[in-house]
Amino acid sequence: MKVILLGPPGAGKGTHAKRLEPILHVPHIASGDLFRDIRREDSDFAREVRGYMDRGEYVPDAATIKMVLQRLAEPDAADGFLLDGFPRTVPQAQALDAALTSEGRRIDCALSLAVPDDVLVARIADRVICPQCHAIYNLKSKPPRLEAVCDVCGHALERRTDEEPDVIRKRVQAFVDQTKPVVEHYRKKGILVEINGDRPIPVVEADVDRAFGIRVER
Ligand code: AMP
Repeated sequence: MKVILLGPPGAGKGTHAKRLEPILHVPHIASGDLFRDIRREDSDFAREVRGYMDRGEYVPDAATIKMVLQRLAEPDAADGFLLDGFPRTVPQAQALDAALTSEGRRIDCALSLAVPDDVLVARIADRVICPQCHAIYNLKSKPPRLEAVCDVCGHALERRTDEEPDVIRKRVQAFVDQTKPVVEHYRKKGILVEINGDRPIPVVEADVDRAFGIRVER
């Protein structure tokens, strides 16, 4: 199954993708995680990526498309993927469509999680991540078992460098200006599923599972 997760920063895309990964047996591929790995390198491109990310701006399309399409060409993505954070612009969506079409493949479902702006800012303020395995925690709703240590791999948890309130607002605005048209792109294709992400986690999960035909005893 080939799935795209759309939604503003803090909507829960990564958290849902991590839960769905072992259920759907496809890799969770997050463009933000790929960029967080690249930004740690010592190269001109890494320095450019750090600049865009820390200002809350999108990395230019050409570099982003090349990076994600390379990742999608790896063997583990041959039977499907959960793509989180890409495409974020209409040219990215068109490039993805073209690449898949050339292989006789297509996106099965674009899942859009909607959450009001003020809720996003509060949620992101409580978020910490593992730089090693990319696990995501929320200090209020999903805290790690040991303070500041990843449950999955034991690495020290961090706050993201792009989660100061001013930068968060810029990232939310980038979503409104550049990614909302991508939601419309998939609506026109008839594969958009919209879910209200501003409800208790089990309620949202139940809707997400229904969208994928997953049966879970709750
Ligand atoms: P995320 O973890 O998805 O919130 O992404 C973190 C940052 O990585 C974004 O604010 C952008 O600077 C960059 N980024 C991630 N995905 C994309 C994308 N599809 N297009 C452009 N920039 C991206």
